[in-house]
Amino acid sequence: MPEYYSGEIRENHQKAIKEATSSINTDVFIDGQFQPPVDGEYYETVDPAVAEPIAEVARGRAGDVDAAVQAAQDAAEDWSETVPPERQTVLRELADGVRENLDEFALLESLDSGKPLDVAEGEIKRGIKYLEYYAGLTRSIEGKQLPYDADSHIYTRREPYGVVGQIIPWNFPFVMVAYKVGPALATGNATVLKPASETPLTALRFAQVAREVAPDGVINVVPGFGSESGDALTSHSEVRKIAFTGSTEVGREIMRNAADRAAPVTLELGGKSPFIVFPDADIDTAVEAVAGVIYYNTGQSCDAPTRVFVHEDVETEFMKAFRERTAEEVVGDPLQEDTTMGPLVSASQFDTVMNYNDIAETEGVTIDVGGDIPDNTECEHGWFVNPTVFTDADNDMRVAQEEIFGPCETIITWSDYDEMIRQANDTEYGLAAGMATENLSLAHETAEKIEAGNIWVNKYATLPPGVPFGGYKQSGLGREHSREALLTYTQCKTVDIATDQSPM
Ligand code: NAP
Ligand code: MG
Repeated sequence: MPEYYSGEIRENHQKAIKEATSSINTDVFIDGQFQPPVDGEYYETVDPAVAEPIAEVARGRAGDVDAAVQAAQDAAEDWSETVPPERQTVLRELADGVRENLDEFALLESLDSGKPLDVAEGEIKRGIKYLEYYAGLTRSIEGKQLPYDADSHIYTRREPYGVVGQIIPWNFPFVMVAYKVGPALATGNATVLKPASETPLTALRFAQVAREVAPDGVINVVPGFGSESGDALTSHSEVRKIAFTGSTEVGREIMRNAADRAAPVTLELGGKSPFIVFPDADIDTAVEAVAGVIYYNTGQSCDAPTRVFVHEDVETEFMKAFRERTAEEVVGDPLQEDTTMGPLVSASQFDTVMNYNDIAETEGVTIDVGGDIPDNTECEHGWFVNPTVFTDADNDMRVAQEEIFGPCETIITWSDYDEMIRQANDTEYGLAAGMATENLSLAHETAEKIEAGNIWVNKYATLPPGVPFGGYKQSGLGREHSREALLTYTQCKTVDIATDQSPM
């Protein structure tokens, strides 16, 4: 278990920051070494609970990306020819290296992102599981023999691309490293990874682990800004495949960059996922499925069920239980054991979320719960908001159509099934959906009608390794977390050999 801190929040955090940063390296990580960025510039990463700097981090730019891609290209020559057991060993050792430093990773993650410390610890463990999962999958990469021509021996091979560029967001900083690096390495690619500028620390701590166990150049980490290192990476001619998680807007831009050289992209983008409460639903199950995700990580999850469609017959009962559950959230210092909701990740995210309260009011939506900031002294320095529930909303209002990325739930009442399904699908996104019902036939039928990549029934957002994840429509392209991910990191080669030569 993580060690909790007590006392005044600023003192706490200063002490924790000192401890967490005592042995980290925040330079760019290229070819197995930490080195200062080419332009010599650094920027501050900030602790959102107290709005104070944690560390100076390298501001990587095009020159650093060039060096990293070159190192990855050189490393990929040997790495692409390794046999699966060798890659399995490296992925296992990466997982072990993180596990051995679990407390350090958890504290860094909590400070950099504002996640409660035990939540951060849980996510680091989740990342470890994914690295182990992909270690196991290395042995499942195989081709086919195709018996379609009597005079030929035809077979396929799945081969890596070489250098892949990977860009991740700030909402699940370490988990995303594992989701990306795992399948890239398992399939024999070398990676250049750009973490989010707001939350680079666990990716850089991971580089320290990689320095000990991975061949030089197979994993490179170039921190910095999206418009600088990010853009340089997606535009680089030698980056043969791009994997991106982030906003739909940036995803489109990345796809345009990749189009110039016809490089394949996988995109995990935004969402505005519906959760349907049917009249026969077990209300406690429905409430927990929704609240357990919309308030987790202060609502900063792409797959959060941000639109609840509750049937009019159970609206009163659902709302009573949902308000009670919302009141149980403890907003405060992420380093305190009883805290369930930390701050938002940044000042700009705070502004975005607070602005949606104004938008809601302008649109005539009722702010049923929250919509404000906590009034305890613990929260006075950081970017904290209260859990918020919008009622009397219609699906075409902005709070129901736009991604808020905060702990804000929009409740929409329904009575007609077909109209509710139409509204549930009436969004540019299609990442996920959930429902609560005791009627299995209805669940299957509804799952088929909803346009989304992941559907949960009487639960929400459980994503064990091995279960494909990814969006329909503008929520993305390609699937991660599973064997399907391996297909997106390999290309298929067909070999056709004539077997009709006369015997000797
Ligand atoms: P974002 O602005 O799209 O940033 C994501 C990453 O892309 C960051 O590392 C960012 O760098 C980088 N970036 C920004 N502009 C770039 C450019 N022009 N070229 C290359 N890279 C660029 O997203 P965000 O606001 O950080 O994250 C929240 C969004 O991510 C939400 O919309 C959410 O729905 C989505 N998300 C989706 C999933 C999923 O699996 N579908 C998971 C998590 C989050 P900087 O840090 O410097 O901005
Ligand atoms: Mg951003």
